[in-house]
Amino acid sequence: MVVILKFGTPQEQIDKIIENIETLGVKVSPTYGENITILGLVGDTSRIDPQKLEANKSVERVVYIQEPYKKANRKFREMDSVFKAGGVTVGGKRITVAAGPCSVEGEEALLELARSVKESGAAFLRGGAFKPRTSPYAFQGLGLEGIEYLKKAKAETGLPIVTEIMSPAYLETFVDYVDVIQVGTRNMQNFDLLKELGKTKTPILLKRGMSSTIEELLMSAEYIMSEGNENVILCERGIRTFETYTRNTLDISAVPALKRQTHLPVFVDPSHASGKWWMVEALSKAAVAAGADGLEIEVHTNPECAWSDGPQSLKPEKFAALMQILRGIAGAVGREI
Ligand code: PEP
Ligand code: MN
Repeated sequence: MVVILKFGTPQEQIDKIIENIETLGVKVSPTYGENITILGLVGDTSRIDPQKLEANKSVERVVYIQEPYKKANRKFREMDSVFKAGGVTVGGKRITVAAGPCSVEGEEALLELARSVKESGAAFLRGGAFKPRTSPYAFQGLGLEGIEYLKKAKAETGLPIVTEIMSPAYLETFVDYVDVIQVGTRNMQNFDLLKELGKTKTPILLKRGMSSTIEELLMSAEYIMSEGNENVILCERGIRTFETYTRNTLDISAVPALKRQTHLPVFVDPSHASGKWWMVEALSKAAVAAGADGLEIEVHTNPECAWSDGPQSLKPEKFAALMQILRGIAGAVGREI
């Protein structure tokens, strides 16, 4: 349930309304806009009589939220969420790009790549230290050693880091050193992990489960937000369909659908969506044109020798050229990169 207050309602009056509602056992989360104040009610609202609320002279109207996600719902917060992640603003006019290798492979290689993607205009350095591989015999990531290299690359270049968490066992280390904690497609519905991440303040990049609906993605965001962490970035990274030509199928319609349903920033990962480096440019352009707030792109100095996901990784010079092209697309849709 959402309570929209009349323009100009004094703060004292707002506080009084919140207090009255909270005595009925419901949590109130207020959003103060320029012209409007919205009170989002979360919890069991069955004891709340909307007619009584509407009888209050400061209340404009009471709206029911039909969808099962509340805090993530655009009805709950009309304005786009904009927040800082490692000093970088996410969700505003500027489109932010996270670029880097699929896996962190070594200190020097990562540093060289970090310098290069920064020069091309990336806002974040991505790199997997803990890798969710389909085969237990495949390279599983450098683990904590990988986090050390990411920290060094950040210290050297200033680029904030994005890396995937697979288990709450390393949560403390992630909270201390990682700027954006990624939840991968395979863990989108690891609800215990989501709840633990919800207790932190670190921004979360939540990737869509490969067989999950848009509503399921939003419910997973709700798990994180319901615990208090509202800095969630959603990421469309391709879904499973009958098509086998590409690794996944990029659901470009998820971008406008999510932008309509939620105030959270929406990213697109064209690398995992396609599995093919030569498709990354076209899909990135489509994502920016469709309204994405950011991109996550795999880049590798020597894709043929990458320890994971080489076939979908761009070489640094291709990434630089892509960023240039994307600036034009962003400008055409009223955004910047
Ligand atoms: C990744 O970003 O390296 C990754 C494994 O992504 P996803 O979870 O989308 O497959
Ligand atoms: Mn990868």
